[in-house]
Amino acid sequence: MQSPSPPDINTIPVTGSNLLAHQLLHALPVAVYTCDAGGYIQLYNSAAIELWGKEPVRGKDQWCGSWKIYKTDGSLLPLEECPMAITLKEGKEVRDVEIIIEKPNGERRTIMPYPQLIFDELGRIAGAINMLMDITETKKSEKDIAWLAALIHSTDDAIISKTLNGIITSWNPGAEKLFGYKAEEMIGQPITRLIPQDRIDEETHIIQRLTRGELVEHFNTLRLAKNGKLINISLTISPIKNNKGIIIGASKIARDITRSKLAEDRLRQSEKYLNELANAMSQLVWISRPDGKVVYFNDRILEYAGMEKLDDDTWDWKGLIHPDELASTVQDWNIAIATGSVFAKEHRLQTKEATYRWHLSRIIPYEDEEGNISKWIGTATDIDDIKQMILRKDDFLSVASHELRTPITSIKAYSQLLMNTYQHSQDEFLKNALAKLEIQANKMTNLVTDFLKLSKIEAGKLQLNKETFCINELVNEIVSDIQLVSVNHKIIVADSERVNVTADREKIAQVIANFLNNAVKYSPGEEQIVVSSEPGNSTITIKVTDKGVGIKPEEHRRIFERFYRAKSHRNFPFSGFGIGLYISAEIIQRHNGEIGVNSEEGKGSTFYFTLPQA
Ligand code: ADP
Repeated sequence: MQSPSPPDINTIPVTGSNLLAHQLLHALPVAVYTCDAGGYIQLYNSAAIELWGKEPVRGKDQWCGSWKIYKTDGSLLPLEECPMAITLKEGKEVRDVEIIIEKPNGERRTIMPYPQLIFDELGRIAGAINMLMDITETKKSEKDIAWLAALIHSTDDAIISKTLNGIITSWNPGAEKLFGYKAEEMIGQPITRLIPQDRIDEETHIIQRLTRGELVEHFNTLRLAKNGKLINISLTISPIKNNKGIIIGASKIARDITRSKLAEDRLRQSEKYLNELANAMSQLVWISRPDGKVVYFNDRILEYAGMEKLDDDTWDWKGLIHPDELASTVQDWNIAIATGSVFAKEHRLQTKEATYRWHLSRIIPYEDEEGNISKWIGTATDIDDIKQMILRKDDFLSVASHELRTPITSIKAYSQLLMNTYQHSQDEFLKNALAKLEIQANKMTNLVTDFLKLSKIEAGKLQLNKETFCINELVNEIVSDIQLVSVNHKIIVADSERVNVTADREKIAQVIANFLNNAVKYSPGEEQIVVSSEPGNSTITIKVTDKGVGIKPEEHRRIFERFYRAKSHRNFPFSGFGIGLYISAEIIQRHNGEIGVNSEEGKGSTFYFTLPQA
């Protein structure tokens, strides 16, 4: 039987107690609405509009003002099956059902509806009033709590909470594993059970800090496990506050650091070894940061230089370098830092007695696993004695060559005088002996000139007297001179365009002569030597090619070093001191040119140098 329709609440004049009910409804912070017996929405408050995200059309919208509703499993719940609809249709108030309301803007809220039937004076269902409790936040915190509990349960760290009196209130499985006690054995027990006797004061200290609201972080200490063993742990303790902000206890996270402690001890041990090793060395040893600031140096540096660390724990090494080498040292060091390359330099370092000694410093970059330079490791070896010996030898060479010059010049002069005097003589032996005398005197002159040049280079006194001349003419002159004395070789000058250069004619002549003499010397039995000049855009390249013994690739650079002679040639009967190419390289470099060799052992060599064109 159809029940007579209830009075339309919204048509009831809003006066007296109705007015009060109306105002009450609107003032409620919870969404409330009513439906008539047919489920048509009648009254609703502003909280309901806010929750639905829209205003319902009275007398048209049925059961609920929501745009869409879902069950908690995510499936759509038709409005006619919502708790309000069931309550009205079945006359049975639905309880404890959660639904999800979606607003037109897509926002979703979890709701617990509370529909209650309204009866008329005859006891018939006149409609229902529904209160929609928004439980979204509660659900979220329930979920958060569940996550937190799972987290505390599953972590390997021991998480313990205690009151401010030190009584344990919770004990997770991590704590069971670490300390060996079950939760039931420890909850209600004093935390001091875990503290070794000699550290009992720590607890008082910790509690004091906690009551001040401080966090105790990464406090490394020892605690007692159930089996009586001491465990190295790192403790982080933070105060637990109630919702009024009053400290009511503490949470303690303990991590077993036995293994990392062991690794740390080993590291410390090996650092100690390294430190002792560095201190046992006679070299100066230091370590600097990627930016070059020195952060470690061995005792030897202290002994040698009496240096003290700066306030920021670094060390100012610049004060140690001799002023003459300081600028070039700083420059080379900056290049090494910028390019990550090895630094190597000979320079003088100041002793604590304010004298200087020559050192060879080498600094190598140290890369971490990612390939970034994390530090630089430097050593300085005292080479002062060797350096002094070299200087004495250079002095000796310089003095000896000076002294030899006069007797050799007079030997040469007399041999020439004799040759002129006896040029028409019939005595073949005499003429032959005089010719040989002149050749040997020339060789000695060349040698002495080389030694003199060498000592000038060493003393930084090699002067260039530049003039503009035709390089091809110079080549031809030298070739004819050398061809005269090299009867077993044929020196060919390849045709080429004439080029002028501005250079020290005499010194460039010496370089060409050195190339040619070497070509003759190192190609015994091979006839042909070719000299060519190849003009480039702004340079000219002079090449001397022989088909002689050649040089191993690894020695191509080294033969330009002072006194260096190719290893395989040392057993051959080629005389020499290994200074010709060194002097040639110095001369060419001072002309901003390039010098080099292309050679294959057993096949021959091409020596070349370039000069800028005039
Ligand atoms: P020296 O010839 O007096 O030893 P140099 O400085 O002129 O000194 O040459 C250095 C070294 O280079 C020589 O000892 C030799 O081993 C090598 N060398 C120079 N020229 C040639 C060449 N044309 N062929 C092979 N090796 C050469």
